[in-house]
Amino acid sequence: MKKITRQLLIAFLVFLIFASILSFISLPAEKPANITITQLLDQIDKNQVESITVRANSLDIKLVGGAKQVLEKEPSESLSTLLKNYNVDTEKLKNIAIDVKADSGTKFWASIILPFLIPLLFILGFFWFMMRQAQGANNKAMSFGQSRAREFNPDKKLKTTFNDVAGVKEAKKELVEVVEFLKNPKKFLALGAKIPKGVLLLGAPGTGKTLLAKAVAGEANVPFFSISGSEFVEMFVGVGASRVRDLFSKAKKNSPCIVFIDELDAVGRQRGAGLGGSHDEREQTLNQILVEMDGFDPRTNVIVMAATNRPDVLDSALLRPGRFDRRVTLDMPDINDRESILKVHAANKPMAKDVTLRKIAERTPGFSGADLSNLLNEAAISAALENKKEVSEIHILDSIDKVLLGPERKSHILSTKEKEITAYHEAGHALVAHELPNTDPVRKVSIVARGSAAGFTLKLPLEDKKLHTKTEFLEELAVMLAGQIAEKITFNEVTTGAQSDLRQSTKLAKRLITEYGMSEKMGLRTFGEKEELIFLGKEIHERRDYSEKTAEDIDAEIHRLTEDAAKLAEKIIKEKKKYLDRIVTVLIEKETIESEEFESLFTRE
Ligand code: ADP
Ligand code: ZN
Repeated sequence: MKKITRQLLIAFLVFLIFASILSFISLPAEKPANITITQLLDQIDKNQVESITVRANSLDIKLVGGAKQVLEKEPSESLSTLLKNYNVDTEKLKNIAIDVKADSGTKFWASIILPFLIPLLFILGFFWFMMRQAQGANNKAMSFGQSRAREFNPDKKLKTTFNDVAGVKEAKKELVEVVEFLKNPKKFLALGAKIPKGVLLLGAPGTGKTLLAKAVAGEANVPFFSISGSEFVEMFVGVGASRVRDLFSKAKKNSPCIVFIDELDAVGRQRGAGLGGSHDEREQTLNQILVEMDGFDPRTNVIVMAATNRPDVLDSALLRPGRFDRRVTLDMPDINDRESILKVHAANKPMAKDVTLRKIAERTPGFSGADLSNLLNEAAISAALENKKEVSEIHILDSIDKVLLGPERKSHILSTKEKEITAYHEAGHALVAHELPNTDPVRKVSIVARGSAAGFTLKLPLEDKKLHTKTEFLEELAVMLAGQIAEKITFNEVTTGAQSDLRQSTKLAKRLITEYGMSEKMGLRTFGEKEELIFLGKEIHERRDYSEKTAEDIDAEIHRLTEDAAKLAEKIIKEKKKYLDRIVTVLIEKETIESEEFESLFTRE
């Protein structure tokens, strides 16, 4: 839209310039005086006129002295009629040279036609210009059909190998086979073995699916073509399919090679489940992928690797033999994997002696490979900002907090009173977490605002846990409520600071009852059916599969669990008020307490 306005403006300017030049040209250099017919007749009568040049609608008059004059007349009227009409003495006319200019005709016509012709030409030119623009867009639309697959040249020094991928041992083991196929296809074909065509990499975002596919290409020393599923889907119908065709023809030309399709679920969702415009397009694209994979000559050494984190929504046709029949799962890294991933990414960064990667791995449960690589990068950036030569532990720990809770907001200054309230709130969380036996250890307590929180208490498990017990959850509930309870016990007043605590605790209590069957009263069943509305993407829709009466019971049960937890927290805080005050004193003084110091507050008498 902007472009068109600009073009219009330019066209308008050109027109203005053109018009002003025209008007300039038509202006004679020295303008003769305009006279009336009576004046002319008078001059003829006095024999002052030397010559008259007749033009279409004017008479150029030259006087005896050499002066020039112009007389406008009607174009239709000739000079002779004019003179006759006024009864001019013919004798007097004999002395005047009368000259009729032939060009007056063309000028006459030009003066009539040009005012129409110029705008017409201008409009035609404008249309031509627009057409060309539109054509340009069309050409662009045509090139949409070409896949925008990116090729990574395997000869480059930056070749990715299995050494760059830490952890994911099982996945690597399975993919060694694929590398073999790519390197030595004859060995397998001689025995009549079919080379797999498709490998599906399953795993959460950031677990290294792309990295692993690149590593396979790097190990086998073959080209790597990568495209993302979402790139297939464009506004023009049929573009996706033609991109697939183009991608595969490119791949066949470069065989052996790897074709990597990221976000396969963007095109490979269950067919027929779509709603809205893009769904036909997706089906066509998906069909084309299937056609291409079926159409391979088994000797064409092209292996398609695709990545998704939603295998559940994939169309079953994709998973049939001869297509993506190999599936490789990449798990979130456990503590050992995290340590080795950190090692890979720390290799090119000078680390200070105080950095223990194991300790950082302990502190980062739930971090994916991408998160860890990002973490070290953030740490390196903050070290560089401080003009340090090495990355120290403090940079990394700060970056963990930043990734988990958002950046520190030091500018967010609390008043003394607010600071005190926040300190009691956080100390409440920390104290109860410390006293209850089944909660995760407290790693850090802080009253420095981060993201939307005024302060935070960071607890992290010693090891990754897949299973959680009911006791853990109930104690967790008490810890969540402890912030507000500490405020209440100390100031006999509560603040808005507990908002997100309460939301979380309500959610947790509800999950205990409706999902985990952990409430004796409500029994061993789930409440509410979670169904995914595929056509709306990631939306999860909860359908109630219980009665109004049960809904009331669930509410009552949430209330009871929360009350119990609150009582537990209150008891602890009242009994250990001494420690609560201690934590608060240090918090107000230092704003942040790390785990060792926190522990020492309880051993000191
Ligand atoms: P995905 O494709 O699964 O979303 P990527 O392969 O794009 O994840 O991973 C993003 C980045 O995270 C990689 O470029 C790499 O730096 C880092 N990364 C992820 N997993 C690992 C791993 N197992 N070992 C080393 N680095 C990893
Ligand atoms: Zn809180």
